[in-house]
Amino acid sequence: MTPLLQVQNLETWYGPIVAMQGVNIEVQPGRMVAVLGANGAGKTTLLNTLAGVIDPFKGQVIFNGEAVHGRDADAVSRRGLVLVPEGRQVYPFLSVRDNLAMGAYSRRDADGVRDDLARVQQWFPRLKERESQHAGLLSGGEQQMLAIGRAYMGRPRLLMLDEPSLGLSPLLTKEIFGIVGRIRDETGTAVLVVEQNAAIALAHADDGYIMELGRIVAADTCEALAQKADVREAYLGGAAGQGLSGTAQRWRRRKTWR
Ligand code: ATP
Repeated sequence: MTPLLQVQNLETWYGPIVAMQGVNIEVQPGRMVAVLGANGAGKTTLLNTLAGVIDPFKGQVIFNGEAVHGRDADAVSRRGLVLVPEGRQVYPFLSVRDNLAMGAYSRRDADGVRDDLARVQQWFPRLKERESQHAGLLSGGEQQMLAIGRAYMGRPRLLMLDEPSLGLSPLLTKEIFGIVGRIRDETGTAVLVVEQNAAIALAHADDGYIMELGRIVAADTCEALAQKADVREAYLGGAAGQGLSGTAQRWRRRKTWR
Protein backbone atom coordinates (compact mmCIF):
# COMPACT_ATOMS: atom_id res chain seq x y z
CA MET A 1 0.00 0.00 0.00
CA THR A 2 1.27 3.52 -0.77
CA PRO A 3 1.92 5.33 2.52
CA LEU A 4 -0.18 8.39 3.24
CA LEU A 5 2.87 10.04 4.80
CA GLN A 6 6.51 9.35 3.96
CA VAL A 7 9.18 11.20 5.88
CA GLN A 8 12.68 10.76 4.47
CA ASN A 9 15.93 11.77 6.13
CA LEU A 10 14.34 14.78 7.82
CA GLU A 11 16.65 17.16 9.67
CA THR A 12 15.73 20.30 11.63
CA TRP A 13 17.95 22.84 13.40
CA TYR A 14 17.28 25.67 15.85
CA GLY A 15 20.10 28.10 15.00
CA PRO A 16 23.29 26.15 15.77
CA ILE A 17 21.45 23.27 17.51
CA VAL A 18 20.40 20.17 15.59
CA ALA A 19 17.10 19.02 17.10
CA MET A 20 16.32 16.13 14.77
CA GLN A 21 18.26 14.27 12.08
CA GLY A 22 17.99 11.28 9.75
CA VAL A 23 14.33 10.80 10.62
CA ASN A 24 12.42 8.29 8.46
CA ILE A 25 8.77 7.61 9.26
CA GLU A 26 5.78 6.20 7.40
CA VAL A 27 2.08 6.38 8.13
CA GLN A 28 -0.19 4.04 6.20
CA PRO A 29 -3.79 5.12 5.49
CA GLY A 30 -6.18 4.45 8.37
CA ARG A 31 -3.45 3.63 10.91
CA MET A 32 -2.64 5.21 14.24
CA VAL A 33 1.10 5.72 14.59
CA ALA A 34 2.79 6.72 17.85
CA VAL A 35 6.18 8.39 18.26
CA LEU A 36 7.45 7.81 21.79
CA GLY A 37 10.32 9.57 23.46
CA ALA A 38 11.56 11.29 26.60
CA ASN A 39 11.48 15.00 27.24
CA GLY A 40 13.50 16.87 24.62
CA ALA A 41 13.78 13.87 22.26
CA GLY A 42 12.56 15.99 19.34
CA LYS A 43 8.93 14.89 19.11
CA THR A 44 7.41 18.38 18.99
CA THR A 45 10.08 19.43 16.49
CA LEU A 46 9.04 16.51 14.27
CA LEU A 47 5.34 17.46 14.29
CA ASN A 48 6.04 21.17 13.83
CA THR A 49 8.30 20.37 10.88
CA LEU A 50 5.64 18.14 9.30
CA ALA A 51 2.96 20.81 9.84
CA GLY A 52 5.05 23.51 8.13
CA VAL A 53 5.53 25.53 11.34
CA ILE A 54 9.32 25.01 11.07
CA ASP A 55 11.25 24.54 7.82
CA PRO A 56 13.49 21.48 7.71
CA PHE A 57 17.16 21.94 6.87
CA LYS A 58 17.19 18.70 4.91
CA GLY A 59 14.94 15.80 3.90
CA GLN A 60 11.54 15.20 2.36
CA VAL A 61 7.94 15.05 3.54
CA ILE A 62 5.72 13.34 0.99
CA PHE A 63 2.05 13.56 1.89
CA ASN A 64 -0.59 11.90 -0.24
CA GLY A 65 1.95 11.67 -3.08
CA GLU A 66 2.97 15.34 -2.93
CA ALA A 67 6.12 16.96 -1.50
CA VAL A 68 5.00 19.37 1.24
CA HIS A 69 8.27 20.16 3.06
CA GLY A 70 9.04 23.85 3.08
CA ARG A 71 5.40 24.84 2.45
CA ASP A 72 3.74 27.11 4.97
CA ALA A 73 1.47 25.79 7.70
CA ASP A 74 -1.76 26.95 6.11
CA ALA A 75 -0.99 25.26 2.79
CA VAL A 76 -0.07 22.04 4.60
CA SER A 77 -3.26 21.98 6.69
CA ARG A 78 -5.41 22.64 3.60
CA ARG A 79 -3.95 19.44 2.16
CA GLY A 80 -5.24 17.52 5.17
CA LEU A 81 -2.20 17.36 7.46
CA VAL A 82 -3.67 18.92 10.59
CA LEU A 83 -1.86 19.48 13.90
CA VAL A 84 -3.32 19.62 17.42
CA PRO A 85 -0.44 21.45 19.12
CA GLU A 86 1.01 20.74 22.54
CA GLY A 87 -0.95 22.56 25.25
CA ARG A 88 -4.18 22.59 23.20
CA GLN A 89 -4.18 26.29 22.24
CA VAL A 90 -7.93 26.80 21.92
CA TYR A 91 -9.24 30.36 21.47
CA PRO A 92 -10.11 31.13 25.12
CA PHE A 93 -12.48 34.05 24.47
CA LEU A 94 -14.46 32.31 21.75
CA SER A 95 -17.30 29.93 22.56
CA VAL A 96 -16.88 26.19 22.12
CA ARG A 97 -19.17 26.41 19.07
CA ASP A 98 -17.07 29.18 17.48
CA ASN A 99 -13.83 27.31 18.18
CA LEU A 100 -15.25 24.34 16.26
CA ALA A 101 -16.42 26.64 13.45
CA MET A 102 -12.86 28.05 13.20
CA GLY A 103 -11.63 24.54 12.40
CA ALA A 104 -13.86 24.48 9.32
CA TYR A 105 -13.11 28.03 8.14
CA SER A 106 -11.65 27.02 4.77
CA ARG A 107 -14.46 24.59 3.90
CA ARG A 108 -17.24 25.46 1.50
CA ASP A 109 -19.41 22.32 1.98
CA ALA A 110 -21.99 23.52 4.54
CA ASP A 111 -23.75 20.13 4.67
CA GLY A 112 -20.48 18.31 5.28
CA VAL A 113 -19.58 20.78 8.03
CA ARG A 114 -22.95 20.19 9.72
CA ASP A 115 -22.49 16.40 9.58
CA ASP A 116 -18.96 16.66 10.97
CA LEU A 117 -20.13 18.92 13.81
CA ALA A 118 -22.75 16.31 14.74
CA ARG A 119 -20.04 13.64 14.67
CA VAL A 120 -17.70 15.67 16.91
CA GLN A 121 -20.54 16.26 19.37
CA GLN A 122 -21.28 12.55 19.40
CA TRP A 123 -17.64 11.70 20.17
CA PHE A 124 -17.39 14.47 22.75
CA PRO A 125 -20.85 15.01 24.30
CA ARG A 126 -19.38 17.50 26.77
CA LEU A 127 -18.64 19.87 23.89
CA LYS A 128 -22.33 19.84 23.00
CA GLU A 129 -23.31 20.50 26.63
CA ARG A 130 -20.90 23.42 26.81
CA GLU A 131 -21.25 24.82 23.31
CA SER A 132 -22.06 28.37 24.44
CA GLN A 133 -19.28 28.61 27.06
CA HIS A 134 -16.00 30.40 26.49
CA ALA A 135 -13.36 27.78 25.70
CA GLY A 136 -11.05 29.29 28.32
CA LEU A 137 -13.49 28.18 31.03
CA LEU A 138 -13.28 24.49 30.10
CA SER A 139 -11.19 22.00 32.08
CA GLY A 140 -7.86 20.82 30.63
CA GLY A 141 -9.44 17.57 29.42
CA GLU A 142 -12.35 19.40 27.79
CA GLN A 143 -9.93 21.79 26.08
CA GLN A 144 -8.03 18.80 24.69
CA MET A 145 -11.33 17.40 23.40
CA LEU A 146 -12.13 20.77 21.83
CA ALA A 147 -8.70 21.00 20.20
CA ILE A 148 -9.16 17.53 18.68
CA GLY A 149 -12.74 18.34 17.63
CA ARG A 150 -11.61 21.60 16.04
CA ALA A 151 -8.87 19.81 14.12
CA TYR A 152 -11.39 17.21 12.91
CA MET A 153 -13.63 20.02 11.59
CA GLY A 154 -10.84 20.73 9.08
CA ARG A 155 -11.42 17.19 7.72
CA PRO A 156 -7.86 15.93 8.16
CA ARG A 157 -6.51 12.98 6.22
CA LEU A 158 -3.84 12.77 8.91
CA LEU A 159 -4.55 14.07 12.39
CA MET A 160 -1.35 14.90 14.29
CA LEU A 161 -1.54 15.10 18.09
CA ASP A 162 1.25 16.55 20.20
CA GLU A 163 1.27 14.98 23.68
CA PRO A 164 -2.51 14.74 24.23
CA SER A 165 -1.95 13.34 27.76
CA LEU A 166 -0.15 16.51 28.95
CA GLY A 167 -1.57 17.56 32.32
CA LEU A 168 -4.46 15.09 32.20
CA SER A 169 -5.37 12.30 34.62
CA PRO A 170 -4.68 8.71 33.48
CA LEU A 171 -8.43 8.08 33.24
CA LEU A 172 -9.06 11.11 31.04
CA THR A 173 -6.01 10.28 28.90
CA LYS A 174 -7.43 6.80 28.34
CA GLU A 175 -10.81 8.24 27.41
CA ILE A 176 -9.23 10.63 24.90
CA PHE A 177 -7.09 7.91 23.29
CA GLY A 178 -10.23 5.73 23.08
CA ILE A 179 -12.08 8.46 21.19
CA VAL A 180 -9.11 9.07 18.87
CA GLY A 181 -9.29 5.33 18.13
CA ARG A 182 -12.97 5.73 17.28
CA ILE A 183 -12.18 8.63 14.94
CA ARG A 184 -9.72 6.35 13.12
CA ASP A 185 -12.15 3.41 13.02
CA GLU A 186 -15.31 5.31 12.09
CA THR A 187 -13.84 7.71 9.51
CA GLY A 188 -10.60 6.07 8.31
CA THR A 189 -8.62 9.15 9.42
CA ALA A 190 -4.96 8.29 9.99
CA VAL A 191 -3.38 9.53 13.23
CA LEU A 192 0.21 10.44 14.15
CA VAL A 193 0.54 10.99 17.89
CA VAL A 194 3.67 11.89 19.87
CA GLU A 195 3.60 10.89 23.52
CA GLN A 196 5.72 10.50 26.62
CA ASN A 197 3.10 8.21 28.13
CA ALA A 198 4.30 5.06 26.37
CA ALA A 199 1.90 2.64 28.04
CA ILE A 200 -1.21 4.38 26.82
CA ALA A 201 0.18 5.10 23.35
CA LEU A 202 1.38 1.52 22.81
CA ALA A 203 -2.01 0.22 23.95
CA HIS A 204 -3.96 2.29 21.42
CA ALA A 205 -1.73 2.85 18.37
CA ASP A 206 -1.03 0.36 15.58
CA ASP A 207 2.58 1.21 14.71
CA GLY A 208 5.25 2.88 16.78
CA TYR A 209 8.59 4.66 16.62
CA ILE A 210 10.92 5.50 19.46
CA MET A 211 12.86 8.74 19.29
CA GLU A 212 15.99 9.50 21.27
CA LEU A 213 18.07 12.66 21.02
CA GLY A 214 16.53 13.61 17.69
CA ARG A 215 16.86 10.21 16.00
CA ILE A 216 14.53 7.27 15.49
CA VAL A 217 16.06 4.33 17.35
CA ALA A 218 13.31 1.70 17.01
CA ALA A 219 10.34 1.08 14.71
CA ASP A 220 7.78 -1.71 14.77
CA THR A 221 4.15 -2.50 15.41
CA CYS A 222 3.12 -1.34 18.87
CA GLU A 223 2.41 -4.92 19.80
CA ALA A 224 6.00 -5.92 18.98
CA LEU A 225 7.50 -2.83 20.64
CA ALA A 226 5.61 -3.56 23.85
CA GLN A 227 7.25 -7.03 23.92
CA LYS A 228 10.85 -5.79 23.53
CA ALA A 229 12.85 -6.09 26.72
CA ASP A 230 14.62 -2.72 26.29
CA VAL A 231 11.41 -0.86 25.61
CA ARG A 232 9.70 -2.52 28.56
CA GLU A 233 12.61 -1.68 30.83
CA ALA A 234 12.89 1.97 29.80
CA TYR A 235 9.22 2.76 29.25
CA LEU A 236 6.87 0.28 30.79
CA GLY A 237 8.66 -0.91 33.93
CA GLY A 238 7.17 0.53 37.17
CA ALA A 239 6.98 3.98 35.55
CA ALA A 240 4.16 3.01 33.16
CA GLY A 241 1.66 5.83 33.01
CA GLN A 242 3.86 7.99 35.25
CA GLY A 243 6.16 9.45 32.59
CA LEU A 244 9.82 8.59 32.33
CA SER A 245 11.29 10.23 35.39
CA GLY A 246 12.76 7.00 36.76
CA THR A 247 14.32 5.82 33.53
CA ALA A 248 15.19 8.94 31.56
CA GLN A 249 18.88 8.95 32.43
CA ARG A 250 19.39 5.33 31.45
CA TRP A 251 17.38 5.99 28.31
CA ARG A 252 19.63 8.88 27.36
CA ARG A 253 22.79 6.77 27.75
CA ARG A 254 21.55 4.07 25.39
CA LYS A 255 22.72 4.34 21.80
CA THR A 256 21.01 1.39 20.11
CA TRP A 257 17.99 -0.74 20.75
CA ARG A 258 17.56 -4.46 20.21
P1 ATP B 1 8.95 17.79 25.09
O1 ATP B 1 8.10 16.63 25.36
O2 ATP B 1 9.67 18.32 26.29
O3 ATP B 1 8.27 18.89 24.30
P2 ATP B 1 10.15 16.89 22.66
O4 ATP B 1 10.50 15.47 22.47
O5 ATP B 1 8.89 17.38 22.02
O6 ATP B 1 10.14 17.24 24.19
P3 ATP B 1 11.44 19.09 21.33
O7 ATP B 1 10.60 20.11 22.02
O8 ATP B 1 11.17 18.82 19.91
O9 ATP B 1 11.39 17.72 22.14
O10 ATP B 1 12.98 19.51 21.51
C1 ATP B 1 14.06 18.84 20.86
C2 ATP B 1 15.36 19.56 21.16
O11 ATP B 1 15.37 20.84 20.57
C3 ATP B 1 15.59 19.78 22.66
O12 ATP B 1 16.96 19.62 22.91
C4 ATP B 1 15.17 21.20 22.88
O13 ATP B 1 15.88 21.78 23.95
C5 ATP B 1 15.55 21.84 21.55
N1 ATP B 1 14.65 22.96 21.22
C6 ATP B 1 13.30 22.90 21.13
N2 ATP B 1 12.77 24.09 20.76
C7 ATP B 1 13.84 24.93 20.64
C8 ATP B 1 13.98 26.32 20.28
N3 ATP B 1 12.93 27.07 19.96
N4 ATP B 1 15.24 26.84 20.25
C9 ATP B 1 16.33 26.08 20.56
N5 ATP B 1 16.27 24.77 20.89
C10 ATP B 1 15.04 24.21 20.93
